[in-house]
This record gives sequence, structure tokens and C-alpha cells, in this order.
Amino acid sequence: MEKRRIAILGSTGSIGRQALDVISQHPDLFEVELLTANNNDSLLIEQAIKFNANSVVICNEDKYEAVAEALQPHCIKVFAGMDSVCGLVGEDNIDMVLAAMVGFSGLKPTLAAIKAGKAIALANKETLVAAGHIVMEAAHRYRVPVLPVDSEHSAIFQCLLCSPDAEIARLHLTASGGPFRTWDKDRIARARKEDALKHPQWKMGDKITIDSATMMNKGLEIIEARWLFDTPVEKINVIIHPQSVIHSMVEFHDGAVIAQMGCPDMREPIQFALGYPARLPLDNRKLDFAALGHIEFHEPDMDRFPALDIARRASDKGGNMPCIMNAANEVAVRAFLEDRIGFYDITDIVTECMDGVDFAASPDLASIYATDEAAKAKATEIIRTRY
Ligand code: MG
Repeated sequence: MEKRRIAILGSTGSIGRQALDVISQHPDLFEVELLTANNNDSLLIEQAIKFNANSVVICNEDKYEAVAEALQPHCIKVFAGMDSVCGLVGEDNIDMVLAAMVGFSGLKPTLAAIKAGKAIALANKETLVAAGHIVMEAAHRYRVPVLPVDSEHSAIFQCLLCSPDAEIARLHLTASGGPFRTWDKDRIARARKEDALKHPQWKMGDKITIDSATMMNKGLEIIEARWLFDTPVEKINVIIHPQSVIHSMVEFHDGAVIAQMGCPDMREPIQFALGYPARLPLDNRKLDFAALGHIEFHEPDMDRFPALDIARRASDKGGNMPCIMNAANEVAVRAFLEDRIGFYDITDIVTECMDGVDFAASPDLASIYATDEAAKAKATEIIRTRY
């Protein structure tokens, strides 16, 4: 494969750091051109020097001077602010953009990269949840591949490679069940962030770890899958699989089910997206079937984990409803991480915002931005006045 020049949006986050680990295993195949970070200036500086980036962006403008001073002797260009990210992703020296920012903030730079014709490795699922119709339409128009990084979606993408034109009967999205899988409802209701952050299988950032505990992560992933694979939500099944070795499955119309398996390690789907269509070697733990012994499957419990139904409802309603759900969830998760609300308040606040924010049946991009703002304002107001 020809050397690929990569931009990593969100390089200091969990996905960004693991992507750089993958890149360090293949210095002959990947070159780091652009790194961007929100706030973590010291790690951004360290990464930029180690990988000899061409440019970096620190989104928090207050930290610009510190970064510029540190990288000036290394001849690495330094910029600040989100507008710089949106401008730089389109530059000629970039072949592929890994969108690994957290939340709705990833939408604008991802669209900018698509419009500049860059291949997208998409880790930022909120982009598709909030504006899937706009993002996928742009990807088709600019003939840009959107390669999934989310492990479930990478798995489905890999399963589909065996029969790309066959009819899909169902997609089976596996879910670990999160840290509260075996807890009763009263105990979950009293859970604190320390409990929720102990994810049994996957090592991830804070936001997605809380989303895994509520199972909103799987709700977001249903909507993400709907857009990536152009499959109606009714054909997307969620199944609890605590060992997390089957990363997801595709059931074809002849009843054959193709599963993609491996140890839970995000570097594998990250590398598959960055190297696609090549399958490259990776220095990671390999699956030991005999040591694993058995694998289990359970139906998800909608009573203890209402987020799955909430996400299906948002998707059925369509329009800006998934955007409202996502925005309210971002605010509520942050409040939970700040110990300001309880665990089930997260889904209660999301539901209340979905009922209370103006619905738009076919929102354009401006309407999506306005919806995100309105839903975040509504959620913030609920938390401020009631908790
Ligand atoms: Mg996932």
C-alpha cells in the first residue's frame, strides 16, 4: 500500500492515542500530518514531536502560546481554534482524516474533510447520530469513503466484505452490557461515576464509558449503523454478549450469520480503517478460544436500561430528534461526571428534552446546529433548576 498521510482530530483522546500506537507500528505506511486537541497541550506537544507532525491545532485558544513556543524549535506549525481545524483538514498534504473528537463538536470538521474529498475514518459516532442524512449525502456527493472505527461497525463492515451485494436480514450489534449488567435497578439508581467508569471489557474515554453504562452508547450505535449501512433500524438487533469477543454480526437472507471476532482492543478497528483495504499485522493480544471456554448472549433489559428504547424512538421519529437526544445526553453525561445528577437522571433529562425541544422533520445543517444548541440549553436549564 502507498504511504498514507493522516490527520487525527482528537489525538490526545483515547482513540487518538491508540491510533498513534498503530501508526508507530507501521512507520513505513503512515505519516502524521495534522494533530488536533481540545485542551491537553502537554500531550499534544509530546505527540507532535514524536511523530514529527507537519501542523497541530490546539482548540483552546488560551493554550496557543504555550504550544507554539514548545514546537517552534521543531518547525511544527501551530494553530488555534476550531476554524483552523476545519481549514487544515482540507489541505493537499492529507489523504485521510481520523475523526476522533468527542460529541457533536466533531460534525463541522468532519463535514469540512468530506467536502475536501478526504477519506474519513469515523470514530465520532455523534456526527452520524445528529446529522447522518447530511453527512452520508455529502460523502456520496464528494465520493468519499466513510470507514467505521467503532468496533461494532468495523465488525459489520468486515462481515459485509464477504457478500457485499447480498440482502441483509439483520445486523446484530453486540453489547458488553457495561459495568451494571448484573446490578438490580435500585443499586443502579444509586451508582456514582466511579462505579460507571469501571468498564469490564473496553478501555475508553469518560463520555463513552458513561454512555456504555446507560447503554445510550448502543442506542447511538443503532443510529450510527442505520446510516453507515443504509439499513432500517427494525433490522438492527442488540444482543448482550459480556465477553466482547464477537464485535458484531451480519445475518444474510439465507440465514447465514457472519461474525467478526477478536480480543477487545480498539487498535484493531482503528488500524483496519486506517489501512483499508489492506489487513496489516498488529502487535496485540490474540484470541485464545480454549482459555475463553464459552461465550454468552442475553436479551437487553429495557427496564433497567431505558436508553435503548429512547434511541429507537428518536430514530423512528427521525428529523432532528436524534440530534436532540444526542445533545441532551452530552449535557446530562457531563453533569453526571460532575456529580450533579444521579444515574437515571441522565435518561430522564434526555426524554424530557426530546418531548420539549421543537421538532423539525427535515432539518438542514443550520437547523441541526440550532437544534443542538436548543437541546443543550434545555438540558442545562433542567439541571440548573431541578438538581
Ligand atoms: Mg462501539
